[in-house]
Amino acid sequence: MNNVLVLNASYEILNITRWQRALCLIFAGKAEVLETGDISVHSPSIEVRLPSVIRMRHYVRKPRILVPVSRNNILMRDRYTCQYCGLVKKPSDLTIDHVMPRSLGGESYWENLVAACKKCNSKKGNRTPEMAGMKLRKKPRAPQFIPSLQINYRDDWEKYILYAAPINSRTAVN
Ligand SMILES: [Zn+2]
Repeated sequence: MNNVLVLNASYEILNITRWQRALCLIFAGKAEVLETGDISVHSPSIEVRLPSVIRMRHYVRKPRILVPVSRNNILMRDRYTCQYCGLVKKPSDLTIDHVMPRSLGGESYWENLVAACKKCNSKKGNRTPEMAGMKLRKKPRAPQFIPSLQINYRDDWEKYILYAAPINSRTAVN
């Protein structure tokens, strides 16, 4: 669990790296620490708290990752939680809801798709949340890397991942 989230100077996600690499970037003055974890490493002369999130001091050019819009990726992004009632469900009990219904022109991209339990989805029907008197728990966004690759996802990464700028997400649902 000592992986480190690396953000670009712009706060966009660059990658996830090992703590050894993160310390090299910090000691070389190339990155700053935004969050530290509970674990320290010692040398004879110094003790260093291991970082959890670091940010590059200079902008690094990197091709953007396009995360495919798929049922599984939507469910993982929403952590198997109905975005209307907030209940965590089994994948088989969840549906993918078009926030703006397809019948009203809603398209299948990250910002218009959320996990919804069957009960909430049928209550909402072919209406917008406003029309149905229902409220989304959070604004759906495109993740910046494939949720299934977030193996060692740490709690203090969440604010950076959720508030990162959305990537180009106009990919059709599989
Ligand atoms: Zn629900």
